[in-house]
Amino acid sequence: MGLKVVKFGGSSLADAEQFRKVAAIIKADPDRRYVVASAPGKRFSSDVKVTDMLYHCYDMVRNREDITDYFKQISERYNGIIRDLGLNFDISGELDYIRNAIMHHSGRDFAASRGEYLNSLILAKFLGFDFIDAESVVYFRENGVYDDEKTNEELKKELKNHDYAIIPGFYGVMPNGTIKTFSRGGSDITGSIVARAADATIYENWTDVSGCLMADPRIVDEPLPIKTITYSELRELSYMGASVLHEEAIFPVRYAGIPINIRNTNVPTAPGTMIVSSTNEYDTERVITGIAGKKGFSVITIEKDMMNSEVGFGRKILDVLEDNDMPFEHLPSGVDTMSVVVSTSYLDARRERIIASINKRVRPDSVVIEDGLALLAVVGRGMVKSKGTAARVFDAISDADINIRMIDQGSSELNIIVGVEEKDLEKALNAIYREFVK
Ligand code: ASP
Repeated sequence: MGLKVVKFGGSSLADAEQFRKVAAIIKADPDRRYVVASAPGKRFSSDVKVTDMLYHCYDMVRNREDITDYFKQISERYNGIIRDLGLNFDISGELDYIRNAIMHHSGRDFAASRGEYLNSLILAKFLGFDFIDAESVVYFRENGVYDDEKTNEELKKELKNHDYAIIPGFYGVMPNGTIKTFSRGGSDITGSIVARAADATIYENWTDVSGCLMADPRIVDEPLPIKTITYSELRELSYMGASVLHEEAIFPVRYAGIPINIRNTNVPTAPGTMIVSSTNEYDTERVITGIAGKKGFSVITIEKDMMNSEVGFGRKILDVLEDNDMPFEHLPSGVDTMSVVVSTSYLDARRERIIASINKRVRPDSVVIEDGLALLAVVGRGMVKSKGTAARVFDAISDADINIRMIDQGSSELNIIVGVEEKDLEKALNAIYREFVK
């Protein structure tokens, strides 16, 4: 096998015991050469992530509060790990420097980034790997957008100097030398960036679940794990709220054709989920790959007699949305009606303005907004090849005595989107799951 890039999330590096599991996984395979590390996460459910503690320090300084005592808890998280691992490693100088820098307004992103920085120093020491600071290889542009070309070029060069290395996730550097972070959960993105630059055969993303599940375990009881999912299917499911991976983490590896393997640090023998760019194989028995759903949508329904023959009607409605900076999700339409499904939270700030503009632009017979819609997506690359999937979805929903408010199937047949009342979402998801997974 070729080179592997591995990323460990915060819960995988939360304490010394987790560090030992991580080290065993890395040492078990000499191809695991580049490791991206998160900051220490929660050790138990009421615990606080170090990243959150660092943001808190930043806020305290802004409120002119003294962080000395609070910062001791952060120092203790790291010193505890070092002590419990039995390492001979003194990071007190680093900790003093960081505390002072935060006290002297070094910036919110700088504060947050130190979580991964310190954890990576310790992991490098523990494994005997080199340490590559993300600040010297991950670049952002002046406008704050990640600079993929420069990063790929510089990182490629730097990796050639190291056989085995640890790279902190989550942050990089601005052209003026200040630290900038990705959005929360951004170590996933760093892992993907490193995998691309290293030309890895696989990007292993180690977390605390055994891969992506076919449904949300808070809604469906013990859903099965997904063995293989394509990037497009994953996008559809994450859009509907399923989350295992930072959304932006897909792009660097997707275009390089590198598969992502989601694995569980606490159950290293489980194969996890493979995320691939394409595959001809699918689960012929179950047909679907996964289901997910989200609440908080509204439908704007515009009615006008003979709308169908009025050239430019749709464009005018979309213009109104654009002028109001309003994204839309779906456009299910009839002969004389056009419906626009939008997110209620976006709509709330612009409700009156949008109704007034639609009335003015297209002079409809009526414009009605209904709230309380939930959308659910049934996703599966196998649907295009198997007959009757849509019928099974609708039967399952109606057998559960649930009213379907909207249906939308993309022409790619990768997904079927169904709109139901918010109160029916959980019941509908369970009904569909039962229909396909016996
Ligand atoms: N530590 C950061 C966070 O909590 C980044 C990450 O873990 O991916 O968001």
